[in-house]
Amino acid sequence: MKIVRSDTNIYAFSTDMKPVLEVFPGERILFETNDCFAGQIRSENDLCTEINFDYINPATGPVAVKGADKGDLLGVFIENIEVGKQAVSVVIPGEGILPDKVGSSVTRTVMTDEEKGTCTFAGITLPLKPMVGVIGVAPGEGSFPTGTPAAHGGNMDTNDIRKGTTVWFPVRQKGAMLALGDCHAVMGDGEVCCSGAEVPAKVTVRLELVKGAFAPWPIAVTEKEIVIIASDDTMEQAAAAAGEAMTELVQKCLGLTFEDALILCSLAMDLRISQVVDPKKTVRAVMPLEILPWEKAKAALSGC
Ligand code: CA
Ligand code: ZN
Repeated sequence: MKIVRSDTNIYAFSTDMKPVLEVFPGERILFETNDCFAGQIRSENDLCTEINFDYINPATGPVAVKGADKGDLLGVFIENIEVGKQAVSVVIPGEGILPDKVGSSVTRTVMTDEEKGTCTFAGITLPLKPMVGVIGVAPGEGSFPTGTPAAHGGNMDTNDIRKGTTVWFPVRQKGAMLALGDCHAVMGDGEVCCSGAEVPAKVTVRLELVKGAFAPWPIAVTEKEIVIIASDDTMEQAAAAAGEAMTELVQKCLGLTFEDALILCSLAMDLRISQVVDPKKTVRAVMPLEILPWEKAKAALSGC
């Protein structure tokens, strides 16, 4: 298995990224990731207000995929996420959903126990639910800080990006250029205080390439659901973008009119909040695979 070390960090997804590794579709790759503070916060005495914000949200990579070109879809199957023993979570004045109420910067450690499948915060036991916060490919044009989510992926902070999920990205330039980082040991939908349980991790993925296919946003396919992940300035705009993409996909796959597809979405699709604290907000549109089988969706995205 090929390994991408945690010292190969990027801080922006851009058109001029240089690959640290080249792989073939079908290969397994282990990404060693840093936490979102690049390891600058190690104890409850290390405060967010004292760290260097030039080094926030590092993503490990990028990896070039041989044969991947603009107009393809890259599937990233998340085979496993192994998290570090200690995670950290923070509040910062001016951040999160209650920016004016946080009086001072606070850091808390969250201990993980992979054997038990739990985390502990303030003596309270929580489930261990490892997920990948930042994952994306080269954007095709421009440069996006890794802390910002957009159509190429980035800081989507979406709970469905976990073990057993395949995340599909529209490839926007040769090689795709996959990078990922910012894993969380656990995070609630919304990420309300501005951080999850931020943790270094080892993420094993397997890649798959579909030639000649397009999706306007990243799509996560879980064991049970198709999840379209859209980001925009407001939650309403992100909700509209995710809902529109799902309506169009349903319309194509099931041969409905736009109006009927929208009614079906209203009956069967959930809108869920991913995060409301990053520079753009992220909302996901979720449809059961029973209604929209992935093979059908993939065929529709391939235009057949
Ligand atoms: Ca994040
Ligand atoms: Zn994070």
